Amino acid sequence: ASNDRVINFGAGPSALPLPVLEQSQEGLLNFEHTGIGIAEISHRSPEFTAFLAQVEANIRAQLAVPPTHAILFTQGGGSAQFAAVVLNMLARYKLLHPERAGADTPLDYVVTGSWSKKAAEEARRLTLGGHARVHVAADARAHSADGKTFDTIPPRSAYTFSADPALVYYCENETVDGVEFSHEEGAPTAFPFDLLNPSGEPKLLPLVADYSSSFMCRPIPRLAEHAVIYAGAQKNIGPAGVTVLIVRQDCLVDVDAAARLGALPVPTMFSWKTLADSKSLYNTPSVLSIYVTGLVLERMKALGGPQYYEELNRKKALKVYAAVNDGQEKGVFKKKVKDGSESWMNVVFEVLGEGAEKRFLDGAKERGMAGLKGHRSVGGIRISLYNAITEEQADKIVEYMNWFVAEELK
Ligand code: PLP
Repeated sequence: ASNDRVINFGAGPSALPLPVLEQSQEGLLNFEHTGIGIAEISHRSPEFTAFLAQVEANIRAQLAVPPTHAILFTQGGGSAQFAAVVLNMLARYKLLHPERAGADTPLDYVVTGSWSKKAAEEARRLTLGGHARVHVAADARAHSADGKTFDTIPPRSAYTFSADPALVYYCENETVDGVEFSHEEGAPTAFPFDLLNPSGEPKLLPLVADYSSSFMCRPIPRLAEHAVIYAGAQKNIGPAGVTVLIVRQDCLVDVDAAARLGALPVPTMFSWKTLADSKSLYNTPSVLSIYVTGLVLERMKALGGPQYYEELNRKKALKVYAAVNDGQEKGVFKKKVKDGSESWMNVVFEVLGEGAEKRFLDGAKERGMAGLKGHRSVGGIRISLYNAITEEQADKIVEYMNWFVAEELK
């Protein structure tokens, strides 16, 4: 029964809203009165194509995506986009600058955690043959106490953007390390949009953002200035299996024309233009994941969209960080991320003392709370507070954290 469900604070795949899960059971048996289940119906049926168009319209309306940008759906997760962004943006660059494009073409990466680091590594792999070079425009580790931990957004003085890169890449929220750019206008830990184009002349910036773990948790600042924003669905908006892309029209390029000029060839499935030309139906999409995502988005819209979630998520994060800070003052917890760089979505901290982490996890499990173990690469505790986590559920873990701290001090 649904009341036996544990509270899932896992980082991904993550909790989905209970009403959506209940509703999707109907669709599994009978999608839109067709008598056919959603996992069985043709992706080219009028019912599904209409549903997909509605999912797109829903994202466009809630995030106020302008007509300059296409919204596309694909598979392969964020990891496939680590490669796709390089291939498509290099093809674009080749078509814009056929003479200049080559081994010296910079790909600027802002490295603030494990995922942007991984994306930069993929770019390095793809350009081993000399099609471009990766330039790390800022590395957050250089600004940590030990020089090797991702625990802060770099100071503004750290950024060294290239003059005319083929792409500028950042990860808005680092899921593993719990580091996120601030959305407060003028905050020192906000993304330095103003440093990207010092001349101020109108320019189509090649700005790429990985929003996998913060998509639709709040409005996206300066969305229209991005070349591409992408996100796997499996944290805030749906099950794993579908990746959402928001791509500016000038980045939907003829990759074969670019390859003829010497750019890296692009597999059909990785070409954004192919996706756009086929309305995201070049091949069979992840129909079931798109369906559940569509239901989540409908529910989000009814509740008030990203503005509603911004308020809710702010409250949840403030409460949980207050409990972490309190535990830190009492010597039981240790917050991992510096002030001003804390993620709203993934709260990471350590539980200090012999066997204490296990006691924390076991106690949480006894109380019906799971998914709290930190990523295997960093250890510790990670509390993920994605959209589906309610304020009451956040209160429940806060209550437990406060109890745990008191208990450890006995
Ligand atoms: N980017 C971020 C910020 C992530 O959190 C993840 C996965 O957790 C990825 C990329 C990789 O995504 P996927 O597992 O969908 O390939």
